[in-house]
Amino acid sequence: MTLPTVYFDHNATTPVRPEVLSGMLPYLKRYFGNPNSAYRLGQETRRAVEKARAQVSSLIGAQYPDEIVFTSCGSESDAFAIQGAAVKKHLITSRIEHDAVLESFKLLEARGFEVDYVGVDRYGRVDPEEIRRFLRPDTCLVSIMFANNEVGTLQPIHEIDRICREKGVLFHTDAVQAVGKIPISVRELGADLLSLSGHKLNAPKGIGALYIRRGVRLSPLVTGHQEKERRGGTENVAGIVALGTACALAQNEMQKHSVEFLRLRKHLEVGILKLPGVRLNGHPDLRLPNTAHFSFEGVDGHALVVGLDLEGICVSSGPACSTGSVDPSHVLRAMGIAPALAKGSLRFSVGWGNSMEEVERFLEVFPKILEKQRRVLSPRS
Ligand code: PLP
Repeated sequence: MTLPTVYFDHNATTPVRPEVLSGMLPYLKRYFGNPNSAYRLGQETRRAVEKARAQVSSLIGAQYPDEIVFTSCGSESDAFAIQGAAVKKHLITSRIEHDAVLESFKLLEARGFEVDYVGVDRYGRVDPEEIRRFLRPDTCLVSIMFANNEVGTLQPIHEIDRICREKGVLFHTDAVQAVGKIPISVRELGADLLSLSGHKLNAPKGIGALYIRRGVRLSPLVTGHQEKERRGGTENVAGIVALGTACALAQNEMQKHSVEFLRLRKHLEVGILKLPGVRLNGHPDLRLPNTAHFSFEGVDGHALVVGLDLEGICVSSGPACSTGSVDPSHVLRAMGIAPALAKGSLRFSVGWGNSMEEVERFLEVFPKILEKQRRVLSPRS
């Protein structure tokens, strides 16, 4: 590739920060011991794992580090929380969850569990009172995401937690897109279970964590003695160290970054909303600072992604179906966006390393790409 890449897809994955990489490398080289071994080489890595556990726990405001269980990714954390908590017949989730959550619920339904799916308003927000109406004496879990990965809308987590607490029902939140981007305190918010993923906050892929409030018991997905019998498998020490470092960096820099990301996002939004036939999706205010999602009339989102890629700019158009065309996303459908409009959607998610110059470059090339692609779909206009 000759053009420098402008990367506006941080909700898909993020680059590993140099500090994170240099912090993890010794655990792939010199400190290779198994953290479960009794000799010093093992104890060295055990100390590193426990330091990282404290760093993760501090970022999300957990009371005790041992409320953090390391997993292989956000999807595993979600599956562990949902399948591990399914002890009674009925569970509740929303229509706009990530597939990592929805697939676990589908699996449970196939096994005879009953699941209710709450809807969202046009901004993609769940109504906590709808959850209350769905609750039954045999409800064992409510799972509602913290922030939506496509449109960035934040959910009323505190209110949902209050309702679940009143009824003695466990509450899980998939916070994969929120952790590291906005302040989170499980002590203040509530939530019994919270999923997070390393590669969304500048750590590598293949490492995640599940917060499990003290006293909450889940049946493990992977059995074994590690992680206090909660998740078997020799720990991914280098990945865990990386996640810990990324969490510490996020905690120190979150305020500065969210101001900067919001500045970039707002500039991008102002520029894009000047174009004809465009609407901004997601909540105007209650939204991740780094995420902006638009639908463009009379155009295919996938074609825009390809056009931008030729200019060295990475954005995403939503989930692609197997034929290569864009399948209108279940999130946009749940928000009531017409399928034809949903097909012409783009998500921008800014993050570490982005600059105003990159936003300017995007705003310079995008109108031409949009116009060209609109002519392709409607040659006579
Ligand atoms: N949940 C949400 C909201 C996500 O955005 C993602 C990834 O895109 C996941 C879960 C899955 O995380 P992972 O890729 O670490 O399995």
